[in-house]
Amino acid sequence: MPNTISVTPLWMQNADLPPPSERPLPSRVDVLVIGAGYTGLSAARETAAAGRSTLVLDAGELGAGCSSRNGGQVAYSIKPTFNSLKAKFGEDWAFRICREGLDAVTYLRSLAKQRDDCGWREDGCFFGAHTARHFGHMARDAESQPRGLEQRISVVPRAEQHGEIASDFYHGGCVYHDDASVDPTRLLLSLLRRAEESGAWVVDRCPVGAIQSNGDGFEALTPRGIVRARQVLLATNGYSGPLSPWHRRRVIPIGSYQIATEPLGTDRVRALIPRGRNIADSRRVVVYYRPSADGERIIFGGRAALAEKDPLACVPRLRQMMARIFPQLKSVRVSHAWVGWVAYTFDTLPHLGQHDGIYYCMGYCGQGVPLAPYFGSRIGQQMLGLKEGCTALDGLPFPSRPYYHGRPWFLAPSVFAYRLIDAIGF
Ligand SMILES: Cc1cc2nc3c(=O)[nH]c(=O)nc-3n(C[C@H](O)[C@H](O)[C@H](O)COP(=O)(O)OP(=O)(O)OC[C@H]3O[C@@H](n4cnc5c(N)ncnc54)[C@H](O)[C@@H]3O)c2cc1C
Repeated sequence: MPNTISVTPLWMQNADLPPPSERPLPSRVDVLVIGAGYTGLSAARETAAAGRSTLVLDAGELGAGCSSRNGGQVAYSIKPTFNSLKAKFGEDWAFRICREGLDAVTYLRSLAKQRDDCGWREDGCFFGAHTARHFGHMARDAESQPRGLEQRISVVPRAEQHGEIASDFYHGGCVYHDDASVDPTRLLLSLLRRAEESGAWVVDRCPVGAIQSNGDGFEALTPRGIVRARQVLLATNGYSGPLSPWHRRRVIPIGSYQIATEPLGTDRVRALIPRGRNIADSRRVVVYYRPSADGERIIFGGRAALAEKDPLACVPRLRQMMARIFPQLKSVRVSHAWVGWVAYTFDTLPHLGQHDGIYYCMGYCGQGVPLAPYFGSRIGQQMLGLKEGCTALDGLPFPSRPYYHGRPWFLAPSVFAYRLIDAIGF
């Protein structure tokens, strides 16, 4: 029988999405949010709850962006190390930036536990060392965490790693006990419900084609008419297109690809990942995987390509990447494959603030599951002028590069070099 692979994310296949709204758009609102992912919905909840009329528009159907199609892994997600931030910004500022990463996880944990509606699981993460040298660094870092930024980490030597993973691919690793996972689409729907309960109106399949300043606010052009708004938030992350060339020059869209195996049975999955944790590793070209929520499948993701839009084209590469770690899975069938566009930034930090009067919040570098709800809510508070909205990232320059206009021509050589470094095991 031919193997038919669905290109709908596994999490979306039975999701109870609301029907498209047919109501005419309001001609005037206080707040217009562009992008209905975790960022946009979290911001909208804040502004609507404070009594500002809030409209959220999304170009695609709900969940068209990353927020329905990610790996659901929740971890401390500030990419630069404390020491590199310290060298750049000084100790105090570096500390505060790193704290935001911890606060984002705490924020999502409390949100998830309030309603228990997004499949929150606290199984932790095993972070595998790709080389013995990486293991040495990891073990040293785990034992000398900056004071006040500690995470619960256990070092797992290679001889003991079968307790975490039925593979000899790694040279040991570390368990991050505070890491968790969510069902990405259930989290999206939970944030949608919260935004709507606060009074926000969310309309999908309605792209904003242009925004113009009109003196006391903005006018947004959509296929369903012009909407005037006092404030506008751009929450378009890896899908930031020509709407705002300034932002497009500052985020680097990169494809992230995932596959789900056919149901393998819970015993077989447990045998592969005995503690049911998330798994990622220390290679430069990222892979991440975990058991599905029902424990029946392995969900495996990574940067299998840079800009390939057809997820099916990446299946052979992802299967190969998975089989290098789990030769046991060499001949299992893949049932689902999907892709989404994450947003990297040139300094690998998220950015939020205002440019030419338009608010923005984006650039989570592939780790927005905890960061996007958290910073989305902060930018919503900033739009309200609340001091709770202040973050350690406020006021950071949002860097671009000469000759970069949204087409990352430099990615192919960089990723080629990273793959080479990974392959030689440096
Ligand atoms: C395969 C994959 C796996 C991932 N795994 C993880 C993970 O395990 N852990 C983790 O932390 N992060 C992960 N991520 C990243 C995470 O999903 C994102 O960082 C996060 O969802 C970003 O949320 P967002 O709301 O900012 O953007 P998105 O959810 O991408 O939403 C942006 C929205 O803007 C809309 N838009 C764009 N232009 C317009 C316009 N002109 N008008 C109207 N709407 C517009 C788009 O349609 C889109 O819906 C993964 C991403 C992918 C793709």
